[in-house]
Amino acid sequence: MCSNDLRELASEIRRCERCGLSQTRRNAVPGDGPENARIMMIGEAPGAAEDLAGRPFVGRAGALLDRALDLAGLDRGEIFITNIVKCRPPGNRRPTEEEIRACMPYLRKQIEIIRPSAICLLGNVPAKAILGVQGVTSLRGRIFDDLYLITFHPAAVLRNMSRMELFVSDLAKLKGMRSGSMAHMQ
Ligand code: SF4
Repeated sequence: MCSNDLRELASEIRRCERCGLSQTRRNAVPGDGPENARIMMIGEAPGAAEDLAGRPFVGRAGALLDRALDLAGLDRGEIFITNIVKCRPPGNRRPTEEEIRACMPYLRKQIEIIRPSAICLLGNVPAKAILGVQGVTSLRGRIFDDLYLITFHPAAVLRNMSRMELFVSDLAKLKGMRSGSMAHMQ
C-alpha cells in the first residue's frame, strides 16, 4: 500500500452516502493517526464535538482518553484512532446493524492498510461488530487472537470515574502486544 492510501480512503469516507447518517452528519470522521501506527483504537461513533471537528475523540471523552493514554505511557500521536461508523448517529444513539454493515468496509480497509499489531476495542459496539462478543464489564482487559484488546469506551469511564484505574491498566497492555492474526477481518 502506498502512503496516500489512508488519505484517499478518508476523502472517500467524507463523500460517502452509503447509509442514512450521511443525511444528518456535518462532517464524516474517517480517523486520525499515522499509517505506520502499531496500535489502532476503535470506538463506537463520532459524537457532537467530533461531528463538528471532523476528527475522532476531541470532546470530553477524547480528553479523558488522552489522559488515560498518558497515564498508560502511550503517545496518542503514534496511534490510529477511528470508530465503527464514521458519521454521527443523531442524538448520539447507537448505530444500527444496517449502518454498521454499510460502514464496515472502510474499517476493514483501514486495518488492511495500517496492519497494526494491536487493536483496542472501546466498548460493546466495536467488540460486537468485530468479535461478535458483548459484555465489556466482564470482557475488559482480555486479549483475543493476540490482536484485539477489549476495554471500556471512554464515555463509560466519564460516567463512572471509578473505572479509570482499570481503563488505564487495560490500555497499558497494548504496549506488550507485538503481533496478531488478522483472522477476524479477512
Ligand atoms: S456512517 Fe459510514 S457508511 Fe454511513 S454515510 Fe457515514 S461513512 Fe458512509
